[in-house]
This record gives sequence, structure tokens and C-alpha cells, in this order.
Amino acid sequence: MTFNNFNFDHKLQDGLNAMGYESPTPIQQQAIPFILAKRDLIACAQTGTGKTAAYLLPILNNIIHSDHRHLNTLIIAPTRELVQQIDQQVEGFAYFTGVSSIPIYGGGDGAVWDQQKKALEAGVDLMIATPGRLIAQLASGAIDLKYVQHLVLDEADRMLDMGFYDDIMRIVRYLPPTRQTLLFSATMPQRIRALANKILQDPIEINIAISKPADGIVQEAYLVNDDQKEKLISHLLKSSAFASALIFASTKEKVKHLGRLLPKLGLRSKAIHSDLEQNEREEILREFKNKQLSLLIGTDVLSRGIDVEGIELVLNYDVPPDPEDYIHRIGRTARAASTGHAITFINQLDQRRFGQIERLIGKEITKAPLPEGFHSSFDYNPEQKQFHPKRHLQSKPKKIFRKKN
Ligand code: AMP
Repeated sequence: MTFNNFNFDHKLQDGLNAMGYESPTPIQQQAIPFILAKRDLIACAQTGTGKTAAYLLPILNNIIHSDHRHLNTLIIAPTRELVQQIDQQVEGFAYFTGVSSIPIYGGGDGAVWDQQKKALEAGVDLMIATPGRLIAQLASGAIDLKYVQHLVLDEADRMLDMGFYDDIMRIVRYLPPTRQTLLFSATMPQRIRALANKILQDPIEINIAISKPADGIVQEAYLVNDDQKEKLISHLLKSSAFASALIFASTKEKVKHLGRLLPKLGLRSKAIHSDLEQNEREEILREFKNKQLSLLIGTDVLSRGIDVEGIELVLNYDVPPDPEDYIHRIGRTARAASTGHAITFINQLDQRRFGQIERLIGKEITKAPLPEGFHSSFDYNPEQKQFHPKRHLQSKPKKIFRKKN
């Protein structure tokens, strides 16, 4: 199958050709015909499957044939990084079409706000926004959503995780009831279904892969005590040269710590976190994308927002708190069907969590032997109960009496 099967407008097809897209991915094959037919859609698809183009292409095709007088499409995404990446894809696809778009996200200075306002006044076809900033703009009366025909919620599960449910519902109230709504989510927990029931009408449902990492990723893990992690990361990164590697840690503090430590160990790397100014973060991301920087360290926020080709290694310095974050983290490598490598450090306390990840993805991940000179004080036991020292100091739990029926 090729993109010609969709009979897209030739201006859009030119953009696709220029971007080197030849054949549609499974989510694109399945979703595009329904979106062109104006159906609502709920799609379970992880990043790396080509879900962004799956909704952008049919929407852009529709906009080309619209009268361009009003804002036609609203795309809501959880993070500014994701918003920027979606916007970049729009720019590529829409290059020959005359369709205009604007990214709306917080964190910039007054100049960014003014720029956004000016672009809005000039009129745009498509807006890509984070929920918080969009609410602020709506409140200021700068945006009119009355004529929106397509609403897309991208990474809906992450938006709910980040507490955006109320914001999304508020935004929806500004939209006309007759519109097309498309909801994309990496996972499909009950609360996403509840959201879909509220804002979608008779949706088609597409399930590309329920939380499964792409096949091209080689996954392995090391059982390692905390006091050996620093030595191990240094050893692994130095023993094979990775042109592009992402290192994830669960907290900002750990990210900052690694950002200081790795350069001292002779590994040129940079950490990205919310304490940096937005332009600093953008600069670091640009360096990483352009392959001027080969090691980038971040938290799970980065895992949702970064779309860089050719990442060879994802290294989890700890086990992510949420099993689905594991899939997001390692999904940063092996983008669009290439291959990649994912390594996770498991300490004694994280074994149970890692067991949950293995259950979620339905397979056991290889526990690699530690290199010479390293040792671990435990064997893998995913049933291992976590020991909470603080709980030990607390008073005895109260007895709970069961009520008799
Ligand atoms: P996504 O799942 O939307 O984050 O897309 C993952 C990556 O695959 C992005 O870098 C896209 O540019 C790329 N991609 C998506 N669809 C295709 C396609 N049909 N052919 C080639 N690359 C694609």
C-alpha cells in the first residue's frame, strides 16, 4: 500500500514525498480512511507507530479544501516538547499547501506571548496547544473555537496523568458540538474510556498495540546495587560508543546529579529539566537532535516529548514508577521500525516494579550478567516485598473488623 491510495490533494502528497514518506504504517492504514470519512476515533497507539501523521494527514487534506476563514483544527497535547514536534511535522507536510499552524504553550517570555497573539489575530488554520496555556488564552478572549471542525487529543493518558482532565473538559465546552473528535492514547485505562464516552460520538476504535514496545528494540536489564550504579553507567557508556543515547531517571534531582557527574567522568552529556529556562532546554534538544550532543539525561516528561531519529540507546538509571512509562522511555529508540537498545538498572527495591513491567509487555526481559569487577547482592525476585523502614517505626496498624452481613 502507498499513500496514493488515500487520494490526498497533490499539494499534500508533494509534502509527503519531500519528507520521504513512502508507505503508511499500520495505524495510518487503519485510521486515515475513517478520519477522511469524518468519523470520531479512539486509537490506542504508542509513540513510534506514526500516530501523528495518522491524524495530521487527513486533517490537512480537509483543511486544504476549506475556506481558511476560521480556526479549523485544535490539537491538544500534554507537553510543550510534544506540541513543538507536532508543529514541526505540520510544517513539513503542509509546506506546499498554504495551511498555517500555530503552537501554543507556556513557559516563554512576553515576546512569545505577543508572537502567539499576533499569529492568532492574523488567523490560522490549525492550533496545537498544551491545555494550561490554551485555557489562559481562552480566558483572555484571544481565541475563538466556535468554528473548529476537528479536535485531536494526543497522548490522552499522559494528559490525565498530569491532571488536565478538568482543563480538557473546559476547553471542550468552547467547541461546537458538531465536530470530529479523535483521541489517541498509548494505553486505554478506564478513565480514558470515560473521557471518550463524554466527548466522542459513536467512535471507531483502533487498537494498534496495547502497550507493547516496538519489536526492533533489544531490551536487557542489570541487577545492580545503588552504590554501583554510577560506576556501571560510566562503564557501559564508555565501553561502546553510542552516537545518540538517552538516559532516564525518575526524579529531577537524579537527573541533575547525573548531569553533573557524567561530564566529570569524561562523558560529554547534558541534563534537561524544568529548572532550566525554556530557551536553554530548546538549545539542548536542538544539539541532541543535530547529533552535536550524544548523551541526553532527563525524566519521564522527556520520554513523552522527544522525537529524535537514530537514538541507539535508552538507558533507565532506575525503574520508572509507572510501567507504561517504561514503554514510553524505550519507545524513544527504534523509531519508525529501525532498531535500538534499551538497558534498565534494577536495584533490590525496584524488582517488584520491574515485574509489573514484564507482565505488562508480556515477556521476561533478559538480565544481563554484570561486567567483571561488579557484583550484585541479590538474585532477581519480582515478588520481593518492598521494605519500608519508616513504616517499621510507626505504631502498630489498627485491627480492621469486618462487618457481618
Ligand atoms: P509518531 O508515532 O507519530 O511519534 O512517529 C514516529 C516517527 O516515525 C516520526 O519521526 C515520524 O516522522 C516517522 N514516521 C511516521 N510515519 C511514517 C511513515 N509512513 N514513513 C516514514 N516515517 C514515518
